[in-house]
Amino acid sequence: MPHKPDTTAITAGRNDSLSMSPALWPSTVWESASLHDAQFRATGMRSREFYSRFANPTVSQFEDAIAELEGTETALAFGSGMGALASLVLSLCSSGSHIVAQNNIYGATATFLRGPCARFGIETTFVDPTEPGAFANAVIPGRTMLVIAETPSNPRLTVSNLSEIGAIKGPFTVVDSTLATPLGQRPRDFGIDVVMHSATKGIGGHNDALIGVLAGDSDLLNEVWAYSVMHGAVASPHDALNALRGIRTLGVRIERQNATALTVAHALQQHPKVTAVHHPFLENHAQHQLARQQMRFGGSVLSFEISGGFAECNRLVEALSLAHIATSFGGPETLVCHPATSTHVGLDAQTLQSVGVTDGLLRLSLGLENARDIIDDLTNALNTL
Ligand SMILES: *Cc1c(COP(=O)(O)O)cnc(C)c1O
Repeated sequence: MPHKPDTTAITAGRNDSLSMSPALWPSTVWESASLHDAQFRATGMRSREFYSRFANPTVSQFEDAIAELEGTETALAFGSGMGALASLVLSLCSSGSHIVAQNNIYGATATFLRGPCARFGIETTFVDPTEPGAFANAVIPGRTMLVIAETPSNPRLTVSNLSEIGAIKGPFTVVDSTLATPLGQRPRDFGIDVVMHSATKGIGGHNDALIGVLAGDSDLLNEVWAYSVMHGAVASPHDALNALRGIRTLGVRIERQNATALTVAHALQQHPKVTAVHHPFLENHAQHQLARQQMRFGGSVLSFEISGGFAECNRLVEALSLAHIATSFGGPETLVCHPATSTHVGLDAQTLQSVGVTDGLLRLSLGLENARDIIDDLTNALNTL
């Protein structure tokens, strides 16, 4: 009988060691038995026990755990989420290739596609992910290599339809599932080819690992690996160790943070200074039904809007005593950020407006504190406006 996902988070990615905690292998290099053996490892696919840019036992354990959680043949870790995304794009696309991506994708992904990719002749069409059929309609047969979605999206928590994207044939489909974590949704079950995570966020979960990962078929990820060995954005075993530790507690953390996010979201909706609250599991979210269909948890991140712009947001966050001004999410501490001037600062004003990243929008990452204290902190700060 297959286990439930939160049990798999405990059992996945263990090698045959008797140790309960994973072993850290800081070694960059392994001794070969002979020159023939060295040649075999130098030319083999994802050769283990050779050189750590090719593979590392601690990193492999993390990759095995992610593959098991995502229900894919394999996974491939990178030095960060952007390392994963950039390696995927550059391994599969050439000058003249075309990409379809959603218009409200992560800030650095958008600037990567608009900047370096455009410079190399890789063209991207940005689509509104909430418009039915938008991804499929933008595909150019024979030219589109990748369809890139992010659901839920950061920071407006829009939800893209996984079944609709999974049904697209021709280009490889990629879903940045960072906000959901592997326990929040399984894009693979909807036919998505590659699942991507910034494991720096909820998977690592403690703000002490910078690491990214792709999960998918071996054939495809072997192709990406062959490129990544040259690109070199590989994961550190130290970060893989911390991320693997994070996976073990992901089940209880996601459950708690999801519940806190909903409790805080409801409290914010009651406050007269708050004009809108966004979270996929809120009843009035525009794609609430879809979110409930494809997600097990709505996630630890919400965003909300107040009337007034940057100055008003600044007054609010300065009045907070528990929540920290910081841009990441998924960790134990509650964090608040102003996306328009931080995570999404690379986008021009018109794009920010079109994807709803307004001057009055704040993103909140719910930590593991008691929800009551977080609500009191926010209410006190809102009352000063
Ligand atoms: C943080 C993040 C990334 C980038 O990950 P890094 O580990 O910071 O490189 C990509 N996508 C989403 C949705 C993110 O939140």
